Amino acid sequence: DLVANQIAAGEVVERPASVVKELLENSLDAQATRIRIEVEAGGRKLIRITDNGHGMVRDDALLAFERHATSKLRSADDLLSIATLGFRGEALPSIASVSRLQLETRVAEEASGTLVEIVGGNILRVEEAGLPVGTTITLRDLFFNTPARRKFLKSEQTELSHIAALVTHYALVHPTKHIELHSSTQALLVAPAVANAAERLFQIFGKDTSNYMLPTTAELDFTRAGLPEPPPWKREEDYVAPDPGFLRMTGFVSKPELQKLNRNSIYVFVNQRLIRDKLILHALSEAYRNILPPTSYPVVLLYLEMPPQEVDVNVHPAKTEVRFRQPSFVHDFVRDTIRTTLMQARP
Ligand code: ADP
Ligand code: MG
Repeated sequence: DLVANQIAAGEVVERPASVVKELLENSLDAQATRIRIEVEAGGRKLIRITDNGHGMVRDDALLAFERHATSKLRSADDLLSIATLGFRGEALPSIASVSRLQLETRVAEEASGTLVEIVGGNILRVEEAGLPVGTTITLRDLFFNTPARRKFLKSEQTELSHIAALVTHYALVHPTKHIELHSSTQALLVAPAVANAAERLFQIFGKDTSNYMLPTTAELDFTRAGLPEPPPWKREEDYVAPDPGFLRMTGFVSKPELQKLNRNSIYVFVNQRLIRDKLILHALSEAYRNILPPTSYPVVLLYLEMPPQEVDVNVHPAKTEVRFRQPSFVHDFVRDTIRTTLMQARP
């Protein structure tokens, strides 16, 4: 119901950038290769996302606005190994309950598509429409019916910078997708598909960044190196070893010459999901100890890959927090790998 959706919206939709995040993840889940995002007034007035993904048939387009009607979760067990980015089926109903939303979508197998219009959670219109394959969601007047939430929004410029940072993050982790961000008539990011993360990094941050970045890469076997000892109070035969699998890290870390005054140039992804995690930030600061002054930060782009069961991404609906099953193992792995990379590059 509407109230439940608006409460959920409080969890999922903090600000325009969180809307963009949910919609972007849906487009990626739908296998889109081209994603265009347009905003006006920092997303308060308009957020539009157009993708060339698989689209939805009419019934699914309507179902998408029912709570917990995710197409991505088949059993409770799936919660433990979430492979797709979205998994709670809460985003669309929440977003629709606090905005004026129009959905246009078409699947390749059908000649025409579906248009759905929802205002404050009420479906006003469902029509057949001539549309290209893929999905466009247009959202106007975010929080128009929840003034208390609207008051908490920051300036247009601040909200826009959050959106730009978010889209940049996603562009970095999906180098093979064409991703664009426009604010009114201004193109903020136009990132055509490239072959790999390194090319994307230089595409976004400029070619000269390459002179200051060191590639770092490592791989460890959780089963061999990461096994926690069986707790002493347990009998040996009760001990269940963690599932086998590798912990992999690739990415780039900056040389000491490149120093930043804040953490805004640190991007960490776990299984393709952008995270903001104290544990990893701590590992980074240890890796750079005595290399950078404590008041400055490196430029870092890290991609961590691990078996889904090694990381719990379900800690918070906004999904930037994670919980590692073996935190100290992950921490030390990141710290030691980067430290080694930095030491080897010393003149
Ligand atoms: P979740 O992503 O957690 O499944 P959402 O509320 O974000 O939940 O989306 C609900 C459903 O709507 C998705 O499971 C998916 O089937 C469908 N959907 C949403 N956005 C798109 C899109 N851009 N392309 C195709 N299907 C989509
Ligand atoms: Mg989703």
